[in-house]
Amino acid sequence: MLPSKKNPTFGDTIPWHEYQEQQKISVHTSPTPLKMEIQTLLRDEALAVSSLEKLPSDLFPTLFKEACAGRLTNLIKAMLAAWPFPCLAVGALMESPDPDCKTFQAVLDGVDLRLTREFHSRRAKLQVLDLRNVCHPFWNIQDDSETLEEKQVLKVLPRYALRQRLKVIVDLCITSFLHEAQVSFLMWAQQRMGSLYFCCTKMKIWTLSPHIIIVIFNVFDPEHITELELNTEWTMSQLENFAPYFGQMRNLHKVFLAPFREITFHFTHRPRITEAECINKFVSQFSQFNCLQHLFMDCIHFLRDEIDQVLGFLKTPLETLSITYSLISQRDLNSFSCCQSLLQLKHLDLRGVILCTLDLMPLRALIEKVADTLETLNLQGCKVKDVQLNVFLPALRQCSQLTQFKFYNNDISMSTLKDFLKHSTNWSRMNVEQYPAPMECYDELAEVSVERFAQVCRELMDTLRTIRQPKNISFATDICLTCGESYVYEQVLRLCHCWQ
Ligand SMILES: [Zn+2]
Repeated sequence: MLPSKKNPTFGDTIPWHEYQEQQKISVHTSPTPLKMEIQTLLRDEALAVSSLEKLPSDLFPTLFKEACAGRLTNLIKAMLAAWPFPCLAVGALMESPDPDCKTFQAVLDGVDLRLTREFHSRRAKLQVLDLRNVCHPFWNIQDDSETLEEKQVLKVLPRYALRQRLKVIVDLCITSFLHEAQVSFLMWAQQRMGSLYFCCTKMKIWTLSPHIIIVIFNVFDPEHITELELNTEWTMSQLENFAPYFGQMRNLHKVFLAPFREITFHFTHRPRITEAECINKFVSQFSQFNCLQHLFMDCIHFLRDEIDQVLGFLKTPLETLSITYSLISQRDLNSFSCCQSLLQLKHLDLRGVILCTLDLMPLRALIEKVADTLETLNLQGCKVKDVQLNVFLPALRQCSQLTQFKFYNNDISMSTLKDFLKHSTNWSRMNVEQYPAPMECYDELAEVSVERFAQVCRELMDTLRTIRQPKNISFATDICLTCGESYVYEQVLRLCHCWQ
């Protein structure tokens, strides 16, 4: 049996400090006494459960890991109730198959056991139960000289330490078809709202009925959500109903909105004017976010002519602005150049946004303003033409921090592309650059001439190599309508599937 720092008489044969010295010497040789002790307990679950009160705190993490791996539900339940540290990150341990959710249920049962008045453990200190499936440093610190307890005290914020209710942290991915474990967890949580404190940090919503939304936000305060992914096919009125919850998510760092393409404008009893009201109500919530850094919007056609409003409401500087496969208006684009929240932008993604009909001067003005911070720019599939590329070329030249420029599927001529590359001397940090095959590679039927494509790419590469050494550069044709692949020139020429 092992000695305990706090209970030196617990089957003790040597003093704690001598045991520690022995551990240093015997490491990496034979099974340590600690491992043997754990193995003994794991062989007899009932013995393990009854030994918990006297078990040294330092053995809890290893024993708990093994109990989860072996799905020893009685031991998991008892250990959770008697957990001697302020925090338990259990989500990462439940990766092993748990088809009938027995391990998960044992954890919840352990919380219940802890809540019962009959249960008293001198050492039970749990304040935060983390059910998120994230790597947690807690499980890798056992070789440190610092004790687990010391580390855990440091990890828990004072306000949590002061709070009496146990805090349960989860990440949620909710679809219209909740699986059994989710349903039972939500029901369990609903019944314990008064005695536990629930917190969801990342929430993914894939279509959700209004009824479930009310239940979920009744349990989980929207204020704690830092990342929200909204993939819905809601109607406008459902979006409007969601707006107040959205506005309460004041601590959002990252928002992903998609795909609203299915959003319908049909109201049976309401006049058309309310469409605008619904959108306004949703959009105005952007004024509530105190720390938003990353904004992703995909297929948000319903926000056409409203993006200027969205950007205007932002209070914090964005690191990422991603508006993809969406219809945007000149008014939206104009707002890019004067939006204060875009002045420290690192990532700009406008993939699939058709820009060929717009005046790109505001985009140029924005790129000029963020030339010292912009790291990645994606203008793939924007159908940009020569004249437009020339508009923002002077701004692009100044972007000295650029590491990625993706520009496939745009309509650029050989001479413009060559000129463009000649002026890219400032791009010393560039890692990935992708260009469209010049227009000269296509015949009058828009078919690619393979020979011409290869020759043009070699010529462009030679041009570029005279001014800098590209790291990862490629050229691609438009997508083949037969197989959906492109011809790509990347050191060698790769043809589409039709050629194989
Ligand atoms: Zn093909």
